Amino acid sequence: MKKLILILGDQLQEDSSALIDFNADHDEIIMIESSAEAEYVWSHKARIVLFLSAMRHFAEHLNKKGFPLSYYKENKQTIVDVLAQHIKKHSITHLICVEPGEVRLRDALMDLAHELSIHLELRPDTHFYCGTKEFSDWAGDKKELRLEYFYRYMRKKHQVLMQENGEPEGNCWNYDQENRKPYSKKGPGLIVEPLWFEPDSITKDVITYVEKEYEDHPGSLNQFKWPVTRQDALLALDHFIEHRLDHFGTHQDAMWTKTPFGWHSIISSSLNLKLISPKEVVQAALNKWERNPDLLSSIEGFIRQIVGWREFVRGIYYLDMPKMAIDNHYNHQRKLPKWYWTGDTKMACMKDAIDQTLEHGYAHHIQRLMITGNFALLAELVPQEVCAWYLAVYVDAIEWVELPNTAGMALFANGGRFTSKPYVASGAYVKRMSNYCQSCSYKSEVRYGEDACPMTTLYWNFLLKHQSSFEKNPRTKLMVVNLKKIAAEDQVLIAEHAEKILNDLEVV
Ligand SMILES: Cc1cc2nc3c(=O)[nH]c(=O)nc-3n(C[C@H](O)[C@H](O)[C@H](O)COP(=O)(O)OP(=O)(O)OC[C@H]3O[C@@H](n4cnc5c(N)ncnc54)[C@H](O)[C@@H]3O)c2cc1C
Ligand code: SF4
Repeated sequence: MKKLILILGDQLQEDSSALIDFNADHDEIIMIESSAEAEYVWSHKARIVLFLSAMRHFAEHLNKKGFPLSYYKENKQTIVDVLAQHIKKHSITHLICVEPGEVRLRDALMDLAHELSIHLELRPDTHFYCGTKEFSDWAGDKKELRLEYFYRYMRKKHQVLMQENGEPEGNCWNYDQENRKPYSKKGPGLIVEPLWFEPDSITKDVITYVEKEYEDHPGSLNQFKWPVTRQDALLALDHFIEHRLDHFGTHQDAMWTKTPFGWHSIISSSLNLKLISPKEVVQAALNKWERNPDLLSSIEGFIRQIVGWREFVRGIYYLDMPKMAIDNHYNHQRKLPKWYWTGDTKMACMKDAIDQTLEHGYAHHIQRLMITGNFALLAELVPQEVCAWYLAVYVDAIEWVELPNTAGMALFANGGRFTSKPYVASGAYVKRMSNYCQSCSYKSEVRYGEDACPMTTLYWNFLLKHQSSFEKNPRTKLMVVNLKKIAAEDQVLIAEHAEKILNDLEVV
């Protein structure tokens, strides 16, 4: 029986479960470039180039290794339409694919198989530490899921940073106290640049194609130097481990103008395309720790992101879809301001985060969570528009990881299913963690009036509106105590000024 193996753009892994029993005598691989996929959200040009170039490199690799492969290049149709034609033409009866990272595509493949009466085998994604079934068993019927418990379960199960007596290394699960500091007042100092890769001929061809076909799409390709092969991704990982990981933890949450990458690893796109695996990333970090035991806090901070957050949000995505995509806990209905696509705003923090996003297709976690995400929540933006923006503008964006982070973590759209409080902060937080406020038209400490910082006004306004729920939550109670210290007449002026901002978000 001839089997057709569909490899999607984020499944570029030779040892994937879809290829485990591949027989070159009668099986065939299919890969499809689809402009319909690139346009399904208004994708950043760099995101499109990354996917297409990595796919072409992977196809070249498979060809060299003698895998029979049909590659559909620069196709205008949807993946499912091309697949349907191919299946009919070649009388395929058995289709195999690793479970897609997007429920929409999984459902479309299931519908197609049903329509064509073929056998569809959706195989588990062995890239991850934790399978979807294992996660749902762990979650059980818990109403609220918390990273900390899942992270400890994963550390114990996979014996990551564990002592023989069952205690965590250093007798502490979490080194956040030592991590997450701002840069010095003088600035970040000399940061070792991440390792970048000049585009080769395949990438250059894709860049030319994308500049022409996706001319109107957001973002720039001037800085496109992302790893597009497994070899490049491994080199980039190695470089991070050797030269940048030492400082990762300390400045994980720090922000500074014109410092787009800080000490972050910049490996999310390589991980999400499956060029490298989380296990090899964690092993590389553990090897470094063995040589440098004093780096425990930074290494634990890094490992927590991979073994903890990345696996956790994936588990929740499959558990909570499709509800997660439509949840709107606060019933927020305001439209995403147009300047999210241009960076044309007077707020220095938002401008810096959006400008670097458009330039590189990258912003680090705290920029995504506490700048663009925080504003979106405080400004009462409709979650679905905000999620579409995040899915479009980051090179690492794939729905299974983007949606829980945006809807769940940044926007509290699921009412705290896996976060113990809404992540809201005023300009005071931004001032503490960055130098953005120094060059801003607004003043972070001013709560209302022309000079008032919109983050600050909207923060207090948000607390005024949700005072009773914040008061009941031990993690947000203190915020209400501080709110109550503001004189009643000032609270009225804050609410009035906030209304003005909210009614004219385009000019803020
Ligand atoms: C609103 C919002 C949207 C996000 N959208 C995405 C997305 O589309 N794709 C994506 O990969 N990450 C997303 N994240 C998580 C995180 O911001 C990025 O993984 C990280 O910024 C990527 O940069 P890095 O590789 O330098 O990560 P580092 O800060 O160096 O962290 C190391 C790795 O840990 C993993 N990681 C860290 N935090 C998370 C997290 N919260 N969830 C999942 N994995 C995590 C990533 O694989 C990352 O490469 C989002 C976060 C927020 C708040
Ligand atoms: S003053 Fe407010 S808007 Fe300006 S950079 Fe600071 S936090 Fe952002």
